Amino acid sequence: MHAPVFKGKEKEYLMECIDTTFVSSVGIFVDRFEDMVAEYTGAKKAVVCVNGTNALHLALMLVGVERNTEVITQTMTFIATANAIAYCGAQPVFLDVDKDTIGLSPNALKNWLYENVKVKATASNRNISSIALPFNKKTGRLISACVPMHTFGHPVLINEIVEICSQYNIPVIEDAAESLGSFYKGLHTGTIGKIGVLSFNGNKILTTGGGGMLLFKDEELGKKAKHLTTQAKTAHPWEFIHDQIGYNYRLPNVNAAIGCAQLEYFDKTLANKRETASYYKAFFANTNIDFFMEPKDCKSNYWLNTIILKDKETRDQFLDYTNKRGVMTRPAWHPMHKLKMFRKCQTDGLENSQWFEERIVNIPSSVRL
Ligand SMILES: *Cc1c(COP(=O)(O)O)cnc(C)c1O
Repeated sequence: MHAPVFKGKEKEYLMECIDTTFVSSVGIFVDRFEDMVAEYTGAKKAVVCVNGTNALHLALMLVGVERNTEVITQTMTFIATANAIAYCGAQPVFLDVDKDTIGLSPNALKNWLYENVKVKATASNRNISSIALPFNKKTGRLISACVPMHTFGHPVLINEIVEICSQYNIPVIEDAAESLGSFYKGLHTGTIGKIGVLSFNGNKILTTGGGGMLLFKDEELGKKAKHLTTQAKTAHPWEFIHDQIGYNYRLPNVNAAIGCAQLEYFDKTLANKRETASYYKAFFANTNIDFFMEPKDCKSNYWLNTIILKDKETRDQFLDYTNKRGVMTRPAWHPMHKLKMFRKCQTDGLENSQWFEERIVNIPSSVRL
């Protein structure tokens, strides 16, 4: 659906890693890649991780997601979003998406919170003496985070979501794994919530082979993240001192080298993606198939180009026809609430999600430079 291309200094930088022997988790490209991504996205600090899933896991831990709490997300997402929540021992709550973003619906969120959540003053375990926190009225559990996802690179209504969550004291983590280069009202996706997460997997718009990134507005929180990704080792010329349980989540220099090279010509990549999307738009304008366009006030990276078929039967015919003829097309993911691990999770009506599930097809979207 989206094959990687290497048209810049990828080989040169990789040779530099090998020639200097800096192939592992220390090296100039690691720091450079973080700085480049922070500058490109406008984040105060960017912290690189071994992949997007780990970055999500760390982001959830950083905002205090713990065992037996609940995390709100959309059911139309890639499995990694829900898995990261499960790694924390938390319960996902799957809400509906909007028709014009395929991302978490602020209305669905508002309604679910209004009906299910009560804010209570409490002695908190987040190192603050007393704070009003949101609890699920039925389960009694804390709502510890909300994770909207920018589906296929189309920005979700993130301002509205952040605003609603702030009324309930719920930290927002943006799963921006698919949306490097996508902007909501001029702001880069992943920089509007408390923490944003990017992925540089091989099928994403920019790849490091495998990799991820955490984006922060709060520099101190970013430093804490960096510490956690590097086994929580404190700086010392020769002693091994670790001041908490840390993780080996830092990206190797060889991967970061590829990322630096890719980011140097990322504007060309994005321009090429928009050109492809505009060809598709013009083509489908003459058919009875809808081509999914970027939401209002947004700039999408058009990571995956999406069409909406009339119904499930037409969709299946289309998938069958194209795949038999060697054109790779794919349906949307099975919504999370239908997977056996998550079948018992709380949901709302999920009307739009089910509608999309039966109609979405992603069509070839690779960059050709
Ligand atoms: C790709 C992706 C991830 C995970 O990224 P990896 O780098 O593959 O671990 C998370 N969430 C979404 C929505 C994704 O598309």
